[in-house]
Parts: sequence; structure tokens; C-alpha cells
Amino acid sequence: YAKRHLRGQTVLFSQAHEKLIHEHSVVEQALQVADLDCELSVVYQPIVDARTGRIAAFEALARWQSPFLGAIGPDRFIPIAERAGLIRPMTKVLIQKALKAAASWPDHVRISINLSAQDISVAEGVVQIIACVNQSGVDPKRIDFEITETSITSDFAQARRAIDALKALGCGISLDDFGTGYSSLSHVHRLPLDKIKVDKSFISDIDINPASFKIVRSLIVLCQDMGLTCVMEGVETEAQYEILSELGGDYIQGWYFSKPMSGDLVLRYMEQDQPA
Ligand code: C2E
Ligand code: CA
Ligand code: CA
Ligand code: CA
Repeated sequence: YAKRHLRGQTVLFSQAHEKLIHEHSVVEQALQVADLDCELSVVYQPIVDARTGRIAAFEALARWQSPFLGAIGPDRFIPIAERAGLIRPMTKVLIQKALKAAASWPDHVRISINLSAQDISVAEGVVQIIACVNQSGVDPKRIDFEITETSITSDFAQARRAIDALKALGCGISLDDFGTGYSSLSHVHRLPLDKIKVDKSFISDIDINPASFKIVRSLIVLCQDMGLTCVMEGVETEAQYEILSELGGDYIQGWYFSKPMSGDLVLRYMEQDQPA
């Protein structure tokens, strides 16, 4: 057994209890006492221009190293933080770290930052984001904010105000995980979006599933018709990449180019950036 102190309580850990570590309440407690500035970090994944093969942007992705629980992925801790009402202080730290990194990148390389529903569902959340942008010294025109449909559907009018405010600052707005929600298409013409990110579930079998191929082909045409930039996520293989570059999408992101990397590696990665 290992004894560790969490929030004044003594918690016993053993190998048999390893599984329990990942239980919701334990994760929530560890988040509640976390030193966000130390425990949270940001990794960056390149987003590549499909025509030139050059790096256009990096998406900032959160990582959490808990002293109690070890490394926990964002798919696990972000939803828990959202439900526990803990996301806004986390978003603040993540935006600050991401913009600090982006400040040292070349001007033509954009940074794309994920937002949760609660970041934009109240006016103070938007004020916090704007303050972070203004304090960073990064040109807001280099920043994209990624939002998902669930952050729009809870309160459409407020989401619209938030998007308008971020756009007024000069930032771009991307609709993330496009195609996985219930009303994706209705958002495309009701909101002033700049980009849509086609969900990786459509990309993963594009080379073997004619239905996925047709959906992605149609989404690319839809984006062209509506003046939206189209980003394809989760491109893992050469075969997927070949198909997508023939279909004519704008940007491509995925393990085929690179997994997310630390801020230090980003600088080295960019040195090797050459036109395809
Ligand atoms: P997402 O925004 O859809 O991010 C894309 C996820 O796909 C990332 O997982 C990325 O590492 C992964 N990915 C990239 N390329 C490939 C590929 O070729 N194949 C496969 N299978 N996966 C790929 P990650 O980093 O684990 O993040 C998971 C989710 O957690 C994100 O999904 C996003 O919803 C959330 N998230 C991550 N960072 C943040 C953040 O800073 N704020 C908020 N609110 N949410 C975040
Ligand atoms: Ca995203
Ligand atoms: Ca996504
Ligand atoms: Ca997601």
C-alpha cells in the first residue's frame, strides 16, 4: 500500500486498486486540488495545408500529469472538469500556455485552441478568453478557437454572442467534430464560422468505406460553396492522405504527419518544414 494525502484525507492505493484510480470521483478530487500551472501542459499537433504540404497551424491539446494519478488524457479529465464546474480556470491556464508558445512561432503559423461549452456559455468566460488573448501579445488574427456543437446547442443566443465577440477581436472560429452532432448542418448557416473540422470517424475508413468517402466529398463541396475552410482530422495513412488531397480539402491533420508534440519539439519540427 502507498499512502497519499489528497485534500486532507488519507487515501490508500494498492495495485488492486489501480482500476479505482480512474473512477470519476477520484479524478474530480485530484482536479480540485491540482496546481493547474504545474500539472497542466499543452502539446501541439500540426495542421498542414493540403495543397502545399506546409504547416499552417498547430492545435493545442491539453495534457495533465497528476501527482496522485499520473498522466490522465483529456478525453477523460475534460468531461469531468466540465461536469464539476472546474473547466474555466483550466482553460485560462491552457490558453496562456498555448499563446506563450505561439508567440515564438513565425507569424504565418496559426494556433488553434479548444474551448468547452462553459467557456462561452457565460459572458465572464468570454471576457476571460479575451483578456488572455490581449495579455499574450499574440495577434488575435493568428488564433482560431475550436468549439463543438454541444457548446452551441445549450444556449444558442449566448453562443452566438460569444462567437461574435471572439470574431470582433479578430480570431477565427472552427466547428470541431463536425458531423457527429445532431444538427451540424443547421449551425453552418446560422453562425459566422470560418472553418469546419470534419470528424475523424469519417476519415478513418475513407479508403475502404464508400459511404465515408461520399460524405467527406460532399462536405468538401459544401465548405467550398459556403466559403468555409475545411480541415480533415485524424488522417493516419498514406492512402487516406492521397484520397483527401485528390478531393481537394483545405487542411489536413493527423498522425500521418505527426502526433502532438511538446512546445520544444514544435520549434525543431518547423525548421524542417518544406513545401511538398
Ligand atoms: P479533439 O479536439 O477532437 O482533438 C483531436 C484528438 O484526436 C486529439 O486527442 C488528438 O491527439 C487525436 N488525434 C490527432 N490525430 C489523430 C489520428 O491521426 N488518429 C487518431 N486516432 N487520433 C488522432 P487528445 O489530445 O487525446 O484530445 C482528446 C479530446 O480532448 C479533444 O478532441 C478535445 O475534445 C479534448 N481536449 C483536448 N485538449 C483540450 C483543451 O485544451 N480544452 C478543451 N476544452 N478540450 C480539450
Ligand atoms: Ca479540437
Ligand atoms: Ca475534433
Ligand atoms: Ca472531441
